[in-house]
Amino acid sequence: MIDLAEALALVESTAAPLPPRRQRLLEAVGRRLAAGIVADCDSPPWDRAMMDGFAVRNADFAGAAGSAVELDVVVDLAAGDVTQLVVRDGCCARIMTGAPLPPGAEAVVPVECAIDGTGSSHAGSRVRLVDPRFRVGQHVGRQGAAFRRGQEVLASGVELRAAEVGLAAEAGATHVVAEPRVRVAILQTGSELVECDREPAFGQTRNSNGPMLAAAVSLLGGEPIPLGIAADKPEAIRAAVAQGLAADILLLSGGVSAGDLDLVPEIFRQCGVEKVFHKVRLKPGKPVWFGRLVRGGGEAGTLVFGLPGNPASSLVCFELFVRPALRILAGRPRDEWHLPRSTAVLTAATKAAPDRPVYLPCRIGRVDGELTATPLPWTGSSDLLGLADARGLIALPAGGGRFEPGTEVEVVLRW
Ligand code: AMP
Ligand code: MG
Repeated sequence: MIDLAEALALVESTAAPLPPRRQRLLEAVGRRLAAGIVADCDSPPWDRAMMDGFAVRNADFAGAAGSAVELDVVVDLAAGDVTQLVVRDGCCARIMTGAPLPPGAEAVVPVECAIDGTGSSHAGSRVRLVDPRFRVGQHVGRQGAAFRRGQEVLASGVELRAAEVGLAAEAGATHVVAEPRVRVAILQTGSELVECDREPAFGQTRNSNGPMLAAAVSLLGGEPIPLGIAADKPEAIRAAVAQGLAADILLLSGGVSAGDLDLVPEIFRQCGVEKVFHKVRLKPGKPVWFGRLVRGGGEAGTLVFGLPGNPASSLVCFELFVRPALRILAGRPRDEWHLPRSTAVLTAATKAAPDRPVYLPCRIGRVDGELTATPLPWTGSSDLLGLADARGLIALPAGGGRFEPGTEVEVVLRW
């Protein structure tokens, strides 16, 4: 059994950033590019009408000085329509926003400028236009005005948010090279477990860890790979573990403490996973197991966590141990590895354990600019209700004794 600080240091020194991965554009949302994106087209891709109206020649309006200009409408162009027809002097095309300007046309006069009810004129009729503010080339999005084919539109290091994703899509990037989305296989062991969509029979327990850990992984930007439930049989667990070792991280819950059916540490050993630590002085979460599968050829190995079966313990261990591993693999900076810690003033008495540090769910408040921590009613390592209500964890050092209201304690925040 080791201390929490030592265990966390071991996780930090064992985990290493994964190389960037080529991934589908939408899979990379929220991650930083590891290679710039070069446009495969101009934007706009051609001279484009930016208003509904009539595509005209500049010369027809040059001397008009705000008086009416009467033109032949030679073609109708909706967005998506193209034409070979050339617009000559005295002619125009009826055009909709988003359509390419026809050859010969140089500007768009908005439909609102049509007079004498000629705004609805189509090919074959005439239109009368008055545009007192006419400018040469107006209301045309010029080809390449925003960016050019071959131009780097997004640089390496840029984080892909909505606008960046739109830009990448416009520039033709269906795939990008970006920080990796860490793949996390999630496996539950226990012959008593049934999936949550089932009505548990007497003696059966719903697999709440599965969805809970998948959610925790998703919230950190990882990709959960649910492997379901393996019964407490060596062959079943071994087969599922072997499958899970293809991921970047394998999270297994249950079967890691010291009971007769706690087969997991031995199976890890048989599968070539090297133990880094087993059991940490911590409540809840003491049975936690951590190791690494080493692959040949300098390839990154799979990090393996055996989490306690009790759901609240499992989640506390996830937040303390798995979170930093996932962050490190994803290449995030050190200040994002762990949940932030602070001091807070207790609003109600609580008790420490004699032998190991205790983490207790609490509400966090603020009085006169100071944080307060209110312990929540909580029955312990299987109680998710108390944990669901919590916005922090009070961290009490080992040594036993009561902590009275008004005492300053350490809290882990943003639970
Ligand atoms: P174990 O760590 O396998 O000894 O399990 C400890 C306790 O957690 C037992 O009461 C199990 O039934 C329960 N448990 C184990 N796995 C899960 C799970 N996936 N979901 C909910 N409870 C579980
Ligand atoms: Mg079990």
